[in-house]
Amino acid sequence: MSQIALPLKAQASTLESNPVDLPLGIGFAPIPIINARQLKNFIFDAQAGKSEITRMCAELGEAFKRFRWEKDPCGSVAWKAGLKSNDGRPLIYAEFGAGEETTLLLGGVHPDELTPIPIAFRFARLLQEKPELYEKLGIHVVIAPLVNPDGFLRIKGNPNAMPTRTNRLGVDLNRNFFTTDWYPRAKHWWEERRQKSLSHFPGHFPNSEIETVFQIQLIDEFDPDKILSIHAPLGFLDYDGPGDQLPRALTNSEAKAKKLVRDISESSRNYRIVDYSFYPGSLGNYAGNERSIPTITLELETTKPEKMDSYWNQFRPGLEALIRYPFHEARTTTGGNATRFYSDHDKRNFKRSDSSSI
Ligand SMILES: [Zn+2]
Repeated sequence: MSQIALPLKAQASTLESNPVDLPLGIGFAPIPIINARQLKNFIFDAQAGKSEITRMCAELGEAFKRFRWEKDPCGSVAWKAGLKSNDGRPLIYAEFGAGEETTLLLGGVHPDELTPIPIAFRFARLLQEKPELYEKLGIHVVIAPLVNPDGFLRIKGNPNAMPTRTNRLGVDLNRNFFTTDWYPRAKHWWEERRQKSLSHFPGHFPNSEIETVFQIQLIDEFDPDKILSIHAPLGFLDYDGPGDQLPRALTNSEAKAKKLVRDISESSRNYRIVDYSFYPGSLGNYAGNERSIPTITLELETTKPEKMDSYWNQFRPGLEALIRYPFHEARTTTGGNATRFYSDHDKRNFKRSDSSSI
C-alpha cells in the first residue's frame, strides 16, 4: 500500500508547486451543486419569512433609489418564498388569481440588465391594485420579479457595487438549466463562442444553482401555460416553444402558441419579433423547446434605468395581453412534455402556501 501512496503524495505536491491551468482558479474548491440533501440549506424559513422578505424589500428600495426608480418596489403585494439565495435572500414570487390560464413572468435573471427588474415589480403591483385584470376571468399569474437577488443587490454591506449578470457564485443562470444539450454543448459554447467570458459561465454542472432550481420549481409547481422572461438590451421579442423553427406546416395548437408573440407585439406598438435560436442551458430551451411551454423572451431595447417609464408605457398593454391570451385549452389537448424535473419528495419544500406571505 505504501508503494502506491508515495507516488500519489509526490504527485500532489508537484501540482501544488506547479499549478496547472485550473478553470477559474477554483479547481480545489468544493463545487456547488444542488441535490436533495443540499437543497435543505436553501429552504426559506417560513417562520422568519415575513421579516426576511420585509428586510429584502427595504434593501430593494435603497437600490431602486439609486436608479431613480420608485421607493417601494414591493408595495403591498403578498410576496412568498420557498427558497433563499446563497446570500440568504428570499427568492420571492407572488400569485394573482385562481384561474386555469396560468402565466409565469420572470424578471431579474440577469440583474446587470437593470430595466426588466422595475417593470416586473410594477406589473406585480398593478395586478395587486387591479384585480379586475384577472379575477373572474379564469386567469392565474405567477410573478418572480427578481430571480437573481444576489446579482442585483450584491454582497451585503457593499451597496455601491454594480449589479452583475451572474449569480453570487458567478454562474449565468440562463445557461445553467439541465437541457439535453447541456453536457455536449454548454461548456463548449462558453469556451469557443464566448472565449470563457466570466459573465456567461454556464456552471460546472447543469442545474447547479439555487436560482435555476427556483425557476424549475416554479415551472413544476404551477405548470404554466406560457412563460415570459424579461431581459435587455437586444430590443426584440423571441419565441421558443411548440412550433418554433419547424420546417413544416404548424398544427393548430402550435400556430396558436406562436400567435401569442404576435399579440404581445401588436399590443406593444408592434415591437420587433426575431426568431432567435436558443442556447444550451437556457430557459427557452428548457421550457419552450423541451417542454413545449410557449416561452417568450422580451428583450427591452436598453439597460438604461431612466428608460423605465417609457418601457412600462410601451409594454404594459403587452403584458396584459400575455396574461389574457387563452392557451390552456389548446395546450391541454396536445399534451407536451409533462415530465417534472423534481420528484414530489423534493417538491414538498415548495408548496403553494400562504404561510410565508406578507
Ligand atoms: Zn439577459
